Amino acid sequence: MKRYSAFSIFREALRNNSGWQRAWAAPEPKAQYDIVIVGAGGHGLATAYYLARNHGIANVAVLEKGWLGGGNTGRNTTVIRSNYLQDPSAAIYEKSRSLYETLSQDLNMNIMFSPRGVMMLAQTEHEVRGYKRTAQANALQGVATEFIPPARVRELCPIIRIDGPRYPVLGALWQPRAGTARHDAVAWGYARACSAMGIDIIERCEVTAIRSNAGQVAGVETTRGAISCGKLALVVAGHSGHLAEMAGFRLPIESVALQALVSEPIKPCLDVVVMANTVHGYMSQSDKGEMVIGGGADGYNNYTQRGSFHHVEETVRSLIETFPMLSRLKMLRQWGGIVDMTGDRSPILSKTPLGGCYVNCGWGTGGFKAIPGSGWAMAELLAKGHSPLAEAFGLDRFREGRFIDESVAAGVAH
Ligand SMILES: Cc1cc2nc3c(=O)[nH]c(=O)nc-3n(C[C@H](O)[C@H](O)[C@H](O)COP(=O)(O)OP(=O)(O)OC[C@H]3O[C@@H](n4cnc5c(N)ncnc54)[C@H](O)[C@@H]3O)c2cc1C
Repeated sequence: MKRYSAFSIFREALRNNSGWQRAWAAPEPKAQYDIVIVGAGGHGLATAYYLARNHGIANVAVLEKGWLGGGNTGRNTTVIRSNYLQDPSAAIYEKSRSLYETLSQDLNMNIMFSPRGVMMLAQTEHEVRGYKRTAQANALQGVATEFIPPARVRELCPIIRIDGPRYPVLGALWQPRAGTARHDAVAWGYARACSAMGIDIIERCEVTAIRSNAGQVAGVETTRGAISCGKLALVVAGHSGHLAEMAGFRLPIESVALQALVSEPIKPCLDVVVMANTVHGYMSQSDKGEMVIGGGADGYNNYTQRGSFHHVEETVRSLIETFPMLSRLKMLRQWGGIVDMTGDRSPILSKTPLGGCYVNCGWGTGGFKAIPGSGWAMAELLAKGHSPLAEAFGLDRFREGRFIDESVAAGVAH
């Protein structure tokens, strides 16, 4: 694979951009792989990348029914943070955030990581107590966050109204090294690096059945033929329930649409990410100048990958109280993705009742930030059978009542 560099851009500029290679190959599926990963979203691709890079396992296929990164990975609002409450969550999200710091260099692809800072507004006394508690927990976990007063919120975010009529801003949980990254570039960067290490990424290849033999996974049926494998990883977010059904077990997952929207582009006015969880809205400004806005998940299960007008109205109406300037903006476009929600709002990285079959799902409304850390842990789980980062996120926790309750950190926020 040719390296991307300032020199290569200069050289290609001189020869009319005729020397670029495909970023990743488009191979025909082989009959057999050591490991098959279903789903070429960020989590599936990152799993494949760390399998090859950290464990030397490259006889791997990533199967994708649509196009690479066309699921939630290409539909999210790109917020990256690690200010979770429980220790296992802080560990995996902080590992992920720290991997993001050098991901552009690791993948040789500019993923536009922008650690601009994320603030989660406290707009009720209950939130003040909750976020102060999270800041204390984060201090013990080695995650750099602090609870900041309203004046500091205003300083960091001049467009905010801190004395709103219903929900004045009483402070915020501030994580200065949190931020955003370009979601497509994360998927493309992992795909390109995987392809360079010999991993097969096979698009337009839907898994339609899972084959097993004496309780052990044997392979998959796909729209491009049967493929045998020693191990199988299901990494399909909102479609996890369907794949689990094919494998003969059930998952404690609900699939719901989560929507987002962007405004017309305007001059730079917001250089942090702001979340207002009481009113269900959050916002950042993209490099193009659009205000990127997200709200809560739909209140009912569904598989509609599109936006709805009432949601735009609800989200913008609630945010206008805290950001009055929004009332003068036109909204440009809206969309939706199918997110996979667990009861405790924490992910599942686990072995399953079918031998050799593993599952990575349940990232819900907040799994973009987790892509590198999740890939790291899932690769270790597949390669070695256990991973310290994944240990607490097993399926058995639902049977044993060992929930990792992140409903405050992840239930609404992203
Ligand atoms: C509107 C919105 C905003 C969000 N905002 C944020 C945010 O700001 N920060 C954050 O951290 N997270 C956010 N998220 C959540 C985040 O996008 C997801 O948690 C994350 O992208 C999940 O990645 P994934 O790789 O698990 O799933 P996906 O990217 O959905 O990939 C799964 C892939 O599996 C494929 N697939 C499904 N079934 C099959 C099959 N049978 N055969 C083959 N392939 C199959 C799908 O086509 C898909 O490409 C948001 C999500 C949405 C929808």
